[in-house]
Amino acid sequence: MTNEQAVADIINLSEGDSSLANEIRELGGEELLECIQCAKCAAACPLALAGFSFFNKRVIQAVLMGLRDALLDDSSIWACQSCNRCTEICPREVNPFEIIQAMRRVAIREFALPTLSIEGLKSLYDTGHAVYLAGAGNTRNKVGLPEKPPSTVANPEALKELQAILRKTALAELGIIPMEEPGV
Ligand code: SF4
Ligand code: SF4
Repeated sequence: MTNEQAVADIINLSEGDSSLANEIRELGGEELLECIQCAKCAAACPLALAGFSFFNKRVIQAVLMGLRDALLDDSSIWACQSCNRCTEICPREVNPFEIIQAMRRVAIREFALPTLSIEGLKSLYDTGHAVYLAGAGNTRNKVGLPEKPPSTVANPEALKELQAILRKTALAELGIIPMEEPGV
């Protein structure tokens, strides 16, 4: 089998979804077509270092090839750390981070959410943090920090305000996490 045949077995371009690129551009990835696949963003990306299949450059490549199902079946887009290194380094001002965010929006529209992201949303609603280590109080004390961080965790009124805002977003319409009003 030639290399070309092997690649054809993995990716069938005739099955690509040509509408995906436009969808991404409408959802925040306006500069998608400026990408020249130079891979500078990949060199700066923790996802690439950690071995995820779809880091910034590859997400863009897959979007341009219309590989909607491959992107939605993989958890890579949810592992982006929002570090924005890719945005800073890109010579074409593509803003790959925004393209990953746009792909997340596509996934949310299609309810293609991994368990991890649902847990993160639930934690965001319950504490104000997508990731919150509730059991870290002792460790914080040991290094001279207050038991709770100075955020919504230590400020119930601010948390209530955040929850009221979240209940007015599309997240509430999706119904994927419980979002009761306190006291209801
Ligand atoms: S997004 Fe920018 S840095 Fe990344 S491959 Fe495309 S042009 Fe290069
Ligand atoms: S923002 Fe996301 S995609 Fe960009 S370098 Fe950081 S982890 Fe990678």
